[in-house]
Amino acid sequence: MNETLVSLVRKLKKTHSLSLDEYHALIVGQTPELAAFLAKEADEVRRSIYGNEVFVRGLIEISSYCKNNCYYCGLRRENGQAQRYRLSPEEILSCAREGYALGFRTFVLQGGEDAWFTDERLSAIIRQIKAEFSDCAVTLSLGERSFASYKTLFEAGADRYLLRHETADAEHYAALHPAELSFENRMRCLADLRKIGYAVGCGFMVGSPGQTPDTLAKDLKFVETFRPEMCGIGPFIPHHATPFAGEVAGSVAKTCYLLSILRLIHPPLLLPATTALGTLDPSGREKGVLSGANVVMPNLSPVSVRKKYELYNGKICTGEESAECRGCLDRRMESIGYRVVVSRGDPKSTPQKGDH
Ligand code: SAH
Ligand code: SF4
Repeated sequence: MNETLVSLVRKLKKTHSLSLDEYHALIVGQTPELAAFLAKEADEVRRSIYGNEVFVRGLIEISSYCKNNCYYCGLRRENGQAQRYRLSPEEILSCAREGYALGFRTFVLQGGEDAWFTDERLSAIIRQIKAEFSDCAVTLSLGERSFASYKTLFEAGADRYLLRHETADAEHYAALHPAELSFENRMRCLADLRKIGYAVGCGFMVGSPGQTPDTLAKDLKFVETFRPEMCGIGPFIPHHATPFAGEVAGSVAKTCYLLSILRLIHPPLLLPATTALGTLDPSGREKGVLSGANVVMPNLSPVSVRKKYELYNGKICTGEESAECRGCLDRRMESIGYRVVVSRGDPKSTPQKGDH
């Protein structure tokens, strides 16, 4: 193994910070041996904080309507082949009820940017979930909204918000999105969420078109300085009805390598082993956890809509009932020596928010 890179890993483990050039060197220096060394270090750090516990989040995909046109995503508004659906508040509640009975204590409401979900409607749904399940956390992943909107939803009881920054390089951001979506607004949203008091998740795709070691180094530096509570990373996977249909998918090995680096950058980080990782490799999520991830997010959406929430080609877990998904992940984690726990799974770094 390259001794310079090994010493960079040791430095990162100790100081949780590297320069952009040092991150760049780690990224281009990836070898199977170095990846194994990094994974071991990341696993040790994660175990010192979370033991062998893996947190589980129930993902409820509330709408496949989206007003945006991100070049990479199958839900983009110009995809005329997309099948659109929207869950009713009653359907969302019934997914949460089913999830609660299965041991979920965090619900993630995710969807395209769908104007039907006004602040009023979302607040009512959040209030109902919190009233019925006071021991649960509600996470939102509904894209860019105004400060006032984020604040209203927080006051209704939402605890966490996932909004991937997608890339920390403004030029790369412009290559992934049409001009109506700006890097500045993305960063404004993340800053607003933080200011309001949410536990915040950023993140990026690995291998998105135009990504380079330079842009990735900036992503790592961004996570280092922003210090999010969560960070969602998964491989880019092309979707057939998008401008990126002919691009190549990201790599599972590189995603795992970056998961290990992220664990060392910010040890308490909540890091999911994503569905995209499991889509490219049947044991992708296990590999993610073994590299430092500590969250899995099985699907709680009604089976009737699952195939319609098609961000990318070949998404897994679209045919199984929620109970099957939960059982399957329990077994997968047990098979590698980890344990899925019934818990809100709050980040260890931030003070816990009381009920409101
Ligand atoms: N509309 C919300 C939430 C849904 S999209 C939002 O954009 O934040 C959630 C995430 O899916 C995006 O942040 C993106 O990183 C990821 N995603 C979209 N298309 C993808 C693709 N083709 N491959 C991999 N991940 C993708
Ligand atoms: Fe819409 Fe999110 Fe897909 Fe962009 S990534 S098109 S905002 S669902």
